[in-house]
Amino acid sequence: MPHRALCTDCGISRSSEPERCGKACQFIAPDYDALETAVHGRARDPRRTDELFFGPFKRMVRASLAKPLAGAQWTGITTRLAERLLEEGAIDAVLTMAPDPSDKWRPVPVLVTKAEDMAHCRGMRMGYAPLLALLEPALEQGFKRLAIIGIPCQIYALRALEKELGFERLYVIGTPCSDNTTTANFHDFLNLLSDEPETITYLEFRADYHVELRFNDGRMKTIPFLQLPLSTLPPDFFPLTCRTCVDYTNVLADITVGYMGGQGEQWLLVRNERGEELLRLLGDEVRLSAPGNAGKRKGAVTGFMANVERAAGGLPLRKMPDWLRPIVGWLMPKIGPRGLEFARARVEMKAIETILHLRRHMPRKMKNMVPPHVWKLVEPYGLKPDEGERPVDAEAR
Ligand SMILES: Cc1cc2nc3c(=O)[nH]c(=O)nc-3n(C[C@H](O)[C@H](O)[C@H](O)COP(=O)(O)OP(=O)(O)OC[C@H]3O[C@@H](n4cnc5c(N)ncnc54)[C@H](O)[C@@H]3O)c2cc1C
Ligand code: SF4
Ligand code: SF4
Repeated sequence: MPHRALCTDCGISRSSEPERCGKACQFIAPDYDALETAVHGRARDPRRTDELFFGPFKRMVRASLAKPLAGAQWTGITTRLAERLLEEGAIDAVLTMAPDPSDKWRPVPVLVTKAEDMAHCRGMRMGYAPLLALLEPALEQGFKRLAIIGIPCQIYALRALEKELGFERLYVIGTPCSDNTTTANFHDFLNLLSDEPETITYLEFRADYHVELRFNDGRMKTIPFLQLPLSTLPPDFFPLTCRTCVDYTNVLADITVGYMGGQGEQWLLVRNERGEELLRLLGDEVRLSAPGNAGKRKGAVTGFMANVERAAGGLPLRKMPDWLRPIVGWLMPKIGPRGLEFARARVEMKAIETILHLRRHMPRKMKNMVPPHVWKLVEPYGLKPDEGERPVDAEAR
């Protein structure tokens, strides 16, 4: 069970020293500058504008495996990286999530020691589970060289405690994460999308403004975002944690494997030398190209903000007339922000959500929880810290 009001049960509260949550938790008093410096050798550089959005990186690429792997969420780069580490004998085990045997959508933490067992972990599950609770058991079994695949709130806690955990070698493969919810809530959402929700095997919010569904008979269906039944979901469908977390792109991973900037392919942020080492392991199994960039995000983000203001104020979302939805749904992939501009738009949207929801529900947490770079992201949209919301200098805490 979650440990505090804002907690995604990353596993630290279940460890032998649960009091470490105080320094490890993204939702208490994160210090991104210090951890970015510890992990990557430097914090994000304001002269490299995209680092304000995505965190420190050496390079960003569009990528896909030449032979996509069965069951993967995209082409399977994430699990293939871990497989390669096991094949090379570079690590003792991989810590990641597998599907719960009784519910394929529920994540369950596992330690994987054989490359062939990574196939079972492919694909995205909705919800969170105590990944880091397996750190101590892993170390007790003598697994000191680990790869960890995780979402940002898990990776923040891992990095905050990395030094004291005493790994011999650690590879961190991160995925972006946003709009997560409990697995139970996710089942309610699937029930709205299909009369036979149990037949849905895959769901993804694609960068072309469509949700893709796949079914166990091989059928595929796409639904434009605008036609999703989102406005009928209860206001607490997304937990406050996932409406207010501040790291969309997993800035403390060695390599982030996402899709937002990939325009239909995957999108990699190679953040440091260890990330380069990971990518080299794929050799010519992976195709790389420069990410695209098109459209302008300002209008889309401004419209999104107006709706978040209503939602955060407890008002119903402003709905578009039904006759207009198919037209706008058709237009958005053509004229909306695409490639890196889409990724920037999503990061700004998430920053706006953080400010507006935290301000309404837990204003006293703002000064410690919202780092300065998030305020810079929302500034163009007229949001500024009020008295009492200004970030407290980490040194002064
Ligand atoms: C809740 C959630 C929201 C996401 N939102 C975005 C987004 O907005 N933008 C974006 O670019 N990418 C997002 N991602 C990442 C994206 O879905 C893909 O996982 C990623 O692009 C890797 O694809 P792949 O084919 O390489 O992964 P695969 O090779 O299929 O491997 C996926 C890996 O993710 C792990 N995993 C699956 N579910 C979870 C979970 N609930 N918690 C922790 N680990 C899990 C699996 O164990 C596996 O190791 C999200 C992921 C999750 C879990
Ligand atoms: S560190 Fe993890 S377990 Fe502890 S409060 Fe934060 S999310 Fe919950
Ligand atoms: S949306 Fe944020 S808080 Fe929620 S699971 Fe993902 S990283 Fe964690």
